[in-house]
Amino acid sequence: MQFEPVIGLEVHAQLKTKTKIFCGCSTQFGKSPNANTCPVCTGMPGVLPVLNKKAVTFAIKTALATHCKINKESRFDRKNYFYPDLPKGYQISQYALPIAEHGYLGIKDPSSNTLKIGITRIHMEEDAGKLIHDPARALSMVDLNRAGVPLIEIVSEPDLRTAGQAGAYLRKLHAILKYIDVCDGNMEEGSFRCDANISLRPLGQKELGIRSELKNLNSFKNVEKAIAYEIKRQTYILEQGKSVIQESRLWDPVKNKTHSMRGKEEAHDYRYFPDPDLVPLIVDDQWILSAEKQIPELPDEKHSRFVKEYKLSDYDATVLTSSIELADFFETVALPLIDKKQAANWIMTTLLGMLNSKGIPIGKSPVTAALFSNLLRLMEQGKINATAAKTVFDEMVKTKKDPEAIVREKGLEQLSDSSALEAMVLAVINENPDEAAAYRNGKTKLFSFFMGQIMKKTRGKADPKIVTPLLKSKL
Ligand code: ADP
Ligand code: MG
Ligand code: ZN
Repeated sequence: MQFEPVIGLEVHAQLKTKTKIFCGCSTQFGKSPNANTCPVCTGMPGVLPVLNKKAVTFAIKTALATHCKINKESRFDRKNYFYPDLPKGYQISQYALPIAEHGYLGIKDPSSNTLKIGITRIHMEEDAGKLIHDPARALSMVDLNRAGVPLIEIVSEPDLRTAGQAGAYLRKLHAILKYIDVCDGNMEEGSFRCDANISLRPLGQKELGIRSELKNLNSFKNVEKAIAYEIKRQTYILEQGKSVIQESRLWDPVKNKTHSMRGKEEAHDYRYFPDPDLVPLIVDDQWILSAEKQIPELPDEKHSRFVKEYKLSDYDATVLTSSIELADFFETVALPLIDKKQAANWIMTTLLGMLNSKGIPIGKSPVTAALFSNLLRLMEQGKINATAAKTVFDEMVKTKKDPEAIVREKGLEQLSDSSALEAMVLAVINENPDEAAAYRNGKTKLFSFFMGQIMKKTRGKADPKIVTPLLKSKL
């Protein structure tokens, strides 16, 4: 029997507010344990939560950017469970009435098909604390700095069918949250976390199969690998005529396997009920309007503009709008240049190649957009050729110096003096009479041999636009 995988994703994104969702404590990452706490976020008796307005605005922005319907009235509920990192014994979340519902995200799957993935709901909630286990001292400690940090949970419809689609959805959602500046997107610090729900069903069946839920996958690659593994695991179980158990599983990135964590709880296990300490959240048109004004051009719109304005290919525009930092870098580089396409090529191959090999994000590029633009302008003006530009670029990475200074220091100016180049072309032909004869007898592939000889003589500085016609006529 053939099975169809069904995948739905839950993303927890930490909102970029300065303070927590229900108290004034700082949200700053990396402070000493429990430095960012107060009676409210440590769950002392008798304290009262006060909702952070900025967090709501960020949730509204996210809802607008994902085409969700915003509920003018939403509510906070208590999700009850016991865990040592949850001092109140409940998490304040939104259950029955979330702030937003019924949206979608447009994605391009790995084969470039455009898909619309439904977003079921977006709700606001507080984060829990963190346990630190110290096996050496046989004790566990709790750090409540994260307790009460504002989160939004973005729940997708079970519309995804492959690991690649799930990866594309997450990358797009991640990009959008950074475009609208509501989440720093740092996956290592846990600002953007994902749970993946996966089930299989006989192809053609409408009813969903039994799912497993993969918890806290902390990189795009791991999400894709874990889902692919889980699809295989469930296929194997079903092919044997057995059934999948509904449970939460953890991905082990070392063993490349998932393993069972715990049975999956149902909503009724949490005994949700409206938090009596918080009034219903009323969002009026004014609030939505002001949030809307803070939304910049989003990836899809930017993509269309890049194709139209800069004549980029669909692929180039997709890569260059994949993050707001990269899109801004490209526009800063391209602005003073005539050849926008060349700017795109050099960023995508030379610059991103270097950054990827060193594992540096674009935001921390050792070569700034302004200097990279200067480098390309030197090439555009014919002052250096592409070979020299590569050399200058490597030097810029090492020294962060201005490209013009490097060109001067290393004497890399392009040789464009036609009479000098003509003499050199003649010399090269005279020095290689056999090759010249072979070329004239039809072995035109030898052209690049002659070009190579000229480049050798000029240490790579000859202007190919001048040498090419000269060489052709003299040969
Ligand atoms: P929870 O996991 O908190 O119980 P939900 O029941 O709302 O929450 O489901 C969470 C996610 O699981 C959603 O993204 C949903 O699309 C997905 N999902 C639900 N049932 C299935 C299923 N049978 N197979 C795959 N995904 C599913
Ligand atoms: Mg879940
Ligand atoms: Zn606090």
